[in-house]
Amino acid sequence: MTQSGPSVEKAAAFGKVFASHMSLSWCTKGAWSAPEVTVTAPIPLHPAAHALHYASSCFEGLKVYRGPSGQVHIFRLQQHAERLRRSAQLLCLPVPSAANVSEAIVNLVRQLRDQVPENPGSLYLRPMLFGTEANIGAAASPSQDACFCVLASPVGDYFSGGARALRLAIEDRAMRATPEFGMAKAGANYASALKHIESAKRNYAADQVLFCPGGDVQETGASNFLLLREGELLTKPLDSGYLHGVTRDSILVLARDLGYRVVERNFTVDELLGWVRQEGEAALSGTAAVLAGVGELVYRGEHIMIGTGAVGPITQRLREALVAIQLGTAEDCYGWRLDV
Ligand SMILES: *Cc1c(COP(=O)(O)O)cnc(C)c1O
Repeated sequence: MTQSGPSVEKAAAFGKVFASHMSLSWCTKGAWSAPEVTVTAPIPLHPAAHALHYASSCFEGLKVYRGPSGQVHIFRLQQHAERLRRSAQLLCLPVPSAANVSEAIVNLVRQLRDQVPENPGSLYLRPMLFGTEANIGAAASPSQDACFCVLASPVGDYFSGGARALRLAIEDRAMRATPEFGMAKAGANYASALKHIESAKRNYAADQVLFCPGGDVQETGASNFLLLREGELLTKPLDSGYLHGVTRDSILVLARDLGYRVVERNFTVDELLGWVRQEGEAALSGTAAVLAGVGELVYRGEHIMIGTGAVGPITQRLREALVAIQLGTAEDCYGWRLDV
């Protein structure tokens, strides 16, 4: 079997290597221009642009994989396009049509087909939408103008060198985002979570912070949080306070089909600690990490090992099931892959 595409090594530094082309489309006074593929380059922006002052900016993250026979496919494009539109609505930004978003992405991927790395690498797509109206007086009104850009970045295997289990610090006071706005994939949510992540890195050498305001277990800065044990998966139900992950949804579908009882309900830090003390596993889900095992928690200064501190077997099993569909080695029973 032959695989074409650039080597994974070249794509090692996630986020800093970009594909040759990007897609650009502009909204001016309510009308969107047709998305255009252009060379990846700086975007001209007025210093009064709404996004720079009032954070009218959101994004997506999805991946393009090269299947075993060399064909290229996008994973769950529709779900990502819809989520971008929901984020845009929450930010009162001009909302591109679903057709426009899909067209921009598909046309770009066609152009970049040769730049999709071979397995286990992929081409990470970063659609972004931001308010461009040049008006610093618009603090209390939406940007009428916007830019929709799709940036592409070849990435290697996130777990090259072996999947290391993560250390999470539990934050039981601060919120990552507001209860109404957590479901928007907005840069502002990241900015507000950052100082808590920095302090957990400094104080505990934690990889991530698990936000549990008032004891309610939510998610980390960029990933959803799941509890697993033999035959059962527990996670928070979807509400407006946190990000509705496409990976979370995919894992839930797969877990149900593999016979797990999937429970979506709120749970507390005490329940979480009880779960991991009784040989349960914990994992983070997201497009970049897929399903990453948690090996250790830090709670109020106390270090709590989960299992042996390594990635648990159930986490591993579910991760492998999802990766097989993403890479194209397993049948696409759910219509998640779009061949381009
Ligand atoms: C993007 C993101 C996720 C993961 O979503 P996926 O669709 O699975 O990539 C989880 N939490 C936050 C805060 C995010 O921004």
